[in-house]
Amino acid sequence: MAVLEVQNLIKKYNEVEVLKGVSLKVEKGETLVIIGASGSGKSTILRCINQLEKIDSGNIKIDEDLMIKEYKKGKAVYQSKDILKKMNLKCGMVFQNFNLFPHMTILQNVTEPMIYVLGKNKEEAEKEAKEILEKMGLQDKAKAYPCDLSGGQQQRASIARTLAIHPEILFMDEPTSALDPELIGEVLKVIKTLAEDKRTMVIVTHEIQFAKEIASRVIFMDDGKIVEEGLPEEVIDNPKKERTKTFLQRFRKM
Ligand code: ADP
Ligand code: MG
Repeated sequence: MAVLEVQNLIKKYNEVEVLKGVSLKVEKGETLVIIGASGSGKSTILRCINQLEKIDSGNIKIDEDLMIKEYKKGKAVYQSKDILKKMNLKCGMVFQNFNLFPHMTILQNVTEPMIYVLGKNKEEAEKEAKEILEKMGLQDKAKAYPCDLSGGQQQRASIARTLAIHPEILFMDEPTSALDPELIGEVLKVIKTLAEDKRTMVIVTHEIQFAKEIASRVIFMDDGKIVEEGLPEEVIDNPKKERTKTFLQRFRKM
């Protein structure tokens, strides 16, 4: 069974459809990579799944739960707060611009959701947080504050913070776009270890070579629709659609 299923999702901003019927499935252990030009709707998909935006039509299923209970007079009726919370806890989101609390140490940033969201005690949380930080290569930064870290370290810390709630699916929206080129590699490396651990992930990225290395499947989006979908060697190396070819050519020239 799919862990995540997006069913014919339509999202409008000011009456303009920015997602025009998007359907996708993610199986357990898969790394789905979404590529596409700026403005094609990639972030909006992730934001709808993570309940940061309301949807206009369609549905989102996580495990056995549907986000929309029914449509009444064409308007989406969301499930109860409890179900939505349960669904949201299964989703972990890593943003482009990190999302660390500046007034907390790195360790506190990671333990905070464990204590306040999962209800763990401080000792338990700190023990696990240290393990996660070690996995992210940040064991010596536990006591540092975000402002003392490089962008690459901050992004690794925000991945650690997201992992702290044990999400079933990890979403990353252009996790390396805000980084200086020399810092991109260290973040891609930790994401790769998560893919190798068979974490279920959905990653939006412009790092095409990286996408090819880690993706179980690639989706190419254009203008609010999925244009092409398949294995990385199909979509990236042998795109069938003209729009995919044009998009990828731009990246090859860079
Ligand atoms: P991508 O992540 O692929 O660059 P987005 O999902 O951010 O694309 O945006 C898709 C479209 O929706 C774009 O045309 C964008 O301008 C528009 N959009 C995104 N967020 C908003 C918003 N809050 N209000 C109005 N329009 C928005
Ligand atoms: Mg975006």
